[in-house]
Amino acid sequence: MMLPPYSVGLGYDIHRLVPDRKLFLCGVEIPHSLGLEGHSDADVALHALCDALLGAVGQNDIGYHFPPTDDRYKDCRSTLLTRHVVDLVHGQGYRVSNADIVIIAQRPKLLPFIATMRDAVSALLQTPFVNIKATTNEHLDATGREEGIAAQAVVLLMRQENKPS
Ligand code: MG
Repeated sequence: MMLPPYSVGLGYDIHRLVPDRKLFLCGVEIPHSLGLEGHSDADVALHALCDALLGAVGQNDIGYHFPPTDDRYKDCRSTLLTRHVVDLVHGQGYRVSNADIVIIAQRPKLLPFIATMRDAVSALLQTPFVNIKATTNEHLDATGREEGIAAQAVVLLMRQENKPS
């Protein structure tokens, strides 16, 4: 089947905040009293991003490619998973045009880390067109009660003309 010239993907994830874990968001360690619980480093923003990338190339989701039952991914950095997914995207003949990420966290304040996170994601995706937003949930629901942090991501891929499809 001919791949479309453009392909869009959507991702969402949420992880629980717990003590005695480091907090990683968009590949950056964020100083905080709590971290995210999960099999890998539980970087919720990179997980949403990976799901968006996988969605855009019709390749299931992050749990399919990196099962939580697989000990290889125990406590592994999600930057490694993201690199693997970006390689998969390139292997399908696409480049990432741009990405937009929303992180929903009541605390900590993420504004001081946005530029560093953007640079980290930009390097992973090999595009300068990365935007990262952080919002509180106005104290509503699980993220608002600081029980967890959620993230949403959308990506646009462009098919490379010189690659077979
Ligand atoms: Mg996850």
